[in-house]
Amino acid sequence: MKVLKGKPIFKGFAIGKIYIYKKQDLSVKREHIEDAEAEFQRFETARQKAIADLQDLMDKAEAEVGEAGVDVLEVHQMMLDDGDYIDSVKNIIDSELVNAEFAVATTADNFYEMFNSMDDDYMKGRALDIRDISDRLLKVLKGYEESGIVSDEPVIVVADDLGPSETVQMDREKVLSFVTRHGSSNSHTAILARTMNIPALIEIDFDDSMDGCLGIVDGQTGEFIIEPDKETEEKYQKLIKDEIESREMLKELKDKETVTKSGRKLKLYANIGGIKDLASVLQNDAEGIGLFRSEFLYLAGDHYPTEEEQFQAYKTVAQNMAGKKVIIRTLDIGADKQIDYFELEHEDNPAMGFRAIRICLDRPEVFKTQLRAILRAAMFGNIAIMYPMITSLNEIKRIKAIVEEVKAELKEQGVPFKEDIEQGIMVETPAAAVISDILAPEVDFFSIGTNDLTQYTLAIDRQNAKLDEFYDAHHEAVLRLIKLVVDNSHKAGIWTGICGELGADLSLTETFIKMGVDELSVSPSFILPIRKIVRNMD
Ligand code: PEP
Ligand code: MG
Repeated sequence: MKVLKGKPIFKGFAIGKIYIYKKQDLSVKREHIEDAEAEFQRFETARQKAIADLQDLMDKAEAEVGEAGVDVLEVHQMMLDDGDYIDSVKNIIDSELVNAEFAVATTADNFYEMFNSMDDDYMKGRALDIRDISDRLLKVLKGYEESGIVSDEPVIVVADDLGPSETVQMDREKVLSFVTRHGSSNSHTAILARTMNIPALIEIDFDDSMDGCLGIVDGQTGEFIIEPDKETEEKYQKLIKDEIESREMLKELKDKETVTKSGRKLKLYANIGGIKDLASVLQNDAEGIGLFRSEFLYLAGDHYPTEEEQFQAYKTVAQNMAGKKVIIRTLDIGADKQIDYFELEHEDNPAMGFRAIRICLDRPEVFKTQLRAILRAAMFGNIAIMYPMITSLNEIKRIKAIVEEVKAELKEQGVPFKEDIEQGIMVETPAAAVISDILAPEVDFFSIGTNDLTQYTLAIDRQNAKLDEFYDAHHEAVLRLIKLVVDNSHKAGIWTGICGELGADLSLTETFIKMGVDELSVSPSFILPIRKIVRNMD
């Protein structure tokens, strides 16, 4: 038995097989080969597998989001069958006697340049598709699996670090816990662990020999136990059983109101990253969805989600929530959420850089596609829109002008959409909090993003694990800003919620209610514990 000590970022216990997750390294080296014919056959085998993988993905997407979800994948299949593309790879292998990986990467670069320099927007769009299909081929040539986890049973995923796009692509049924060497308490991987209600540890100094061993994750003490003895294993089995039992007891609170004894009501909503989270939203009896992090739709794939793909996803969520509020936060990428196909430039200070609404205002076509999908899906439920990273009144005016443009286009095309959709903003910059009196009359609601609000107020990069000891989630400066925002919203007759992680801090639930906070949006597993506190309040 070996015990490693790290830092817990989400509570709970897990017992299971350790799975060391390796990053998919798609970098390519030029290697000399002797047998060009055999190398081309390697490429051919990989190409056939890539086409078959795409077919599987299309079948899955069709079942989940309908036919519209498969368009791009179909294009990729066709490109993999394109004679010019295949000839180019073959020529490079034959003439330069190089490995298939190098020939694929070189062909990708050449075709990318060619498409990208064309005037035609459609052809320009194909440039990114070329990168996608080449990456797909490289993954097959390098022997990587599609989902990232190759195991028949659920496992403890152990990795150096996990990016949002990696975690979002993992099959959730297969993950018992996340354990990483790097990462911070406020990263999106931590948020995902909370949403999935599974324990997670950081700062664990593991080694590859642990792959396949039995492991225990203790989200209370931060211990990671490898090959536990019988006694330890039994102790944790009992703890897991107790945990399941206390969760069962909370179920009594399902279908009950979230109201204090004196009759003050709180809206208790859930945070989600996509359709996969809906089951736990419904199981935990959330009264709505207060934050749908729509960027996970963008992170999950290797291309811009089309209007139709987004429409289907938003519609599915709205329909499942059956009339309950669903607040879709528009795309919030940049900073720690990088997506290759956006081709964002390197920044020295990305947290304060080109992210969220700034990207949407700079790339209105991307923004408009999402707005069209949301406005159309709003016909199928109680959808509202929320904009991230607002700092000024001018931004709100620019957004509203774009929304009006989109509405006019939909009207002209005779496409049904919701005209009077509610629009709110996230208050997650000190600037927005301080001028919340000026912003309130312009919007329908505020939702305070305490993760970023704390980062910007305390000048602490939420991704930097070294600063965790300085990250005081209960800092008076943040609490005062929350109170200011709540008061200003009420003066303007609108409501304020909290959708950052602080909203799920059970030691603050009473404080928030006393401040007048109208809504809390939290990871689904926190819904019933918060309801319990509220119902016990006077
Ligand atoms: C926040 O900043 O508090 C928030 C809810 O948004 P995200 O964590 O996705 O940045
Ligand atoms: Mg934020």
